[in-house]
Amino acid sequence: MDIIVLLGAPGSGKGTVAGALASGNGNLRHVSSGDLLRAAVAKGTPAGIEAKGYMEAGNLVPDSLIATMIKDVVAETKGETTMLLDGFPRNLAQAEILEKMGAPVKSAVLIDVPDSIIQDRIAGRRTCPKCKAGYHVKNLPPKVEGVCDKCGEKLVIRKDDNPDTVKDRLAVYHAQTEPLIKHYSGKGILKTVDGTQNVAATAKAFLAVM
Ligand code: AMP
Repeated sequence: MDIIVLLGAPGSGKGTVAGALASGNGNLRHVSSGDLLRAAVAKGTPAGIEAKGYMEAGNLVPDSLIATMIKDVVAETKGETTMLLDGFPRNLAQAEILEKMGAPVKSAVLIDVPDSIIQDRIAGRRTCPKCKAGYHVKNLPPKVEGVCDKCGEKLVIRKDDNPDTVKDRLAVYHAQTEPLIKHYSGKGILKTVDGTQNVAATAKAFLAVM
């Protein structure tokens, strides 16, 4: 098993691209730290109860809380699988934790989207609470408005996708997550793709460099 880390601002398309790639290739596994946390919140586990307030405020949850979840997923993923790790690491301390988990990070792919586009992307984002599929009202609409193509569930707007929280999440991204670009570039494994293209083109570019 090896790992490809996805880097990029909230709304850059990490989850959409990773989901599209993994659904067409059984050897790729999409793991989203945000999805793991939202599932824990929905279930009301102790970790979910602890994480909820941080997430609603657009802050990062404590490193140890999310690292424990990722460690479990890494441990259960074996064989030929390549893990598309979306949302972890989110800061340099988490990158070090990941390196100690023993699964090699093959590359880190930055999906590059300017902040000016991010607000619009997130304002139009709709999410399936059941199967986690992501949509956008203009760029990636479902076949029937407000309904998931894949499982028929009613789509929702994520609580932390409101404009005020998005501003805070972008500030957290620039302060804490962006230093990872330099970190992986220093290791010689950083790749960058233009995330302003449509999903298919971004996914194709991602596959070509990963
Ligand atoms: P995402 O779905 O990746 O946008 O994550 C949603 C929220 O979950 C973030 O705003 C954080 O509150 C939390 N979160 C996700 N991944 C991490 C992480 N690696 N470290 C800390 N908090 C995280």
